[in-house]
Amino acid sequence: EVFVPKIIEVNYIEGSGDKRWSSRDFPWTKELEVNNKKVFGNHSFRPNQREIINATISGCDVFVLMPTGGGKSLTYQLPALIRRGITLVISPLVSLIQDQIMHLLQANIPAAYLSANMEWTEQLEILRELNSDYCKYKLLYVTPEKIAKSDNLLRHLESLHVRELLERIVIDEAHCVSQWGHDFRPDYQGLGILKQKFPNTPVLALTATATASVKEDVVQALGLVNCIIFRQSFNRQNLWYSVIPKTKKCLEDIDKFIRENHFDECGIIYCLSRMDCEKVAEKLQECGHKCAFYHASMDPSQRASVQKQWSKDEINIICATVAFGMGINKPDVRFVIHHSLPKSIEGYHQECGRAGRDGQRASCVLYYSYSDYIRVKHMLSQGAIEQSPITPGYNRSNMINSGRILETNTENLQRMVSYCENDVDCRRLLQLAHFGEKFDCSACQKTCDNCLKITNFIEKDVTEIAKQLVELVKLTGQRFSSSHILEVYRGSLSQMVKKHRHETLSLHGAGKHLAKSEASRILHHLVIEDFLMEEVKKSDFYGSVSSILKVNESKVRNLVAGQRIILRFPSSVKASKPGKSDATPAKGSLTSGKLNVTLFDTPAPQTEVDLNLSA
Ligand code: ADP
Ligand code: MG
Ligand code: ZN
Repeated sequence: EVFVPKIIEVNYIEGSGDKRWSSRDFPWTKELEVNNKKVFGNHSFRPNQREIINATISGCDVFVLMPTGGGKSLTYQLPALIRRGITLVISPLVSLIQDQIMHLLQANIPAAYLSANMEWTEQLEILRELNSDYCKYKLLYVTPEKIAKSDNLLRHLESLHVRELLERIVIDEAHCVSQWGHDFRPDYQGLGILKQKFPNTPVLALTATATASVKEDVVQALGLVNCIIFRQSFNRQNLWYSVIPKTKKCLEDIDKFIRENHFDECGIIYCLSRMDCEKVAEKLQECGHKCAFYHASMDPSQRASVQKQWSKDEINIICATVAFGMGINKPDVRFVIHHSLPKSIEGYHQECGRAGRDGQRASCVLYYSYSDYIRVKHMLSQGAIEQSPITPGYNRSNMINSGRILETNTENLQRMVSYCENDVDCRRLLQLAHFGEKFDCSACQKTCDNCLKITNFIEKDVTEIAKQLVELVKLTGQRFSSSHILEVYRGSLSQMVKKHRHETLSLHGAGKHLAKSEASRILHHLVIEDFLMEEVKKSDFYGSVSSILKVNESKVRNLVAGQRIILRFPSSVKASKPGKSDATPAKGSLTSGKLNVTLFDTPAPQTEVDLNLSA
């Protein structure tokens, strides 16, 4: 494997907490505040909104990580309104765009969009307007394939630019650039051309999903050299998380769960396949729930009708594939149930994020079985998994280097599995680690199944194992992924291990007495605590990416000097039981019914959220 060094050296500037951006003395402050109230009807700004707006109007390139529902749109719509020129917005989905345009027009903000499947005459008319001296549009939305495929559009953008009317370029859902993201769209990778053509036009990239590796990928692909990053906690304190073993009685469990905790309330049930959606919906209807299904093979009018009934509360529950959700803005979703395994932790976090946007308490329940893992894995390899909303022009067969994408997908899926199989660590901690965020479990306040369950735990010293893992990363040359390191450590004899002759290493198999979930938990801990660093590398040939582990020598010195690493384990479980690889539910109190009752009978905590959704 040949890795090339990073293409550009990026200078990240941390924006959150920088007083400069929260100043109210910018020349545009007054206008900003007036229009926020008058046009958008908001009484105040939510966390980071003012700061992001000030930074982007100041002309900086800005990268925004803000949870779903946090209010990203305002950070470009408001500047667009009060500046002279046009804001170009790249958004992955026509339905999302139409929804936004509708809102903008209602607020009397002139906006238009161009997409490939629009009438040509209509497109011409918009292009003509762009050419006119007093172009009326404040915002122009386009899908990414428009940028990739339409020279005509690029020429018009150039003309706007020459006339100093191209105010800003916004990349919404920017994680779509990255193969690491759960929503990779090949056309997003071509967006780097915008920075090349318009180096002085400020770029604003927005996403609710960015692990360190996704962030790196996005910034590289877009060519943002000096960029200010705004991020805020991705913790959603009002969401209660649990993972429940999935049995044959799963549908009865779901019915019971809804009946006991959320009867007649609004929710989403994510299913793996179209068939599953229909089956689950039918069963729940029989049980008396107002329920419908939603997936990509329904025709658009059917889908629109379901969505409408849902937003008008004529239907409570939607059984859907991940095709349902992006851009959905219903504030009172009280539960999100995963009927089967999500494809990645990022995807899971985002899907759960559709619950409880009003800041009130909501439940996120995931039904997990190992056999679903096998099923999802198989479907991934067949390219048979429904992607989240279908972009026009998005064609899986176009995807470059699909082998690598499969690898990435598989790794994402494996992380999801280890999340599910982890019955010790706080769910929030596990999720947030993916966004590079540290979390103190005591702040969870028993709002996840693991924190709730662990009243008795023992602390175990895992320092020796940790040292071995670090040593192994070194021995193998600091160029492999965590899943590969785990394989070697637990003594795998896979092709890859053989190919690199790892089976001859002294530490090959040194961890074979450990359950996979334990070994992976310890390795994961080393990454969270910065003993090991996960680095994204691009391979030279296709520009594809992979993540590899590196040793952080300065931290590891502490280990050598005697620092101990202590992890907690539930006291009932021996720390070195062999890995369990079937779908049998865990023993003890972890039966679904019982867990639900304990989890959801606890009084609700104060719902003031640090996300400050109702500010
Ligand atoms: P995101 O793109 O981050 O998921 P949106 O931009 O769609 O979020 O905003 C989510 C909701 O929050 C919208 O209904 C929007 O009107 C509302 N919102 C955004 N900013 C504010 C604010 N400052 N005050 C009140 N509501 C806001
Ligand atoms: Mg958005
Ligand atoms: Zn917790």
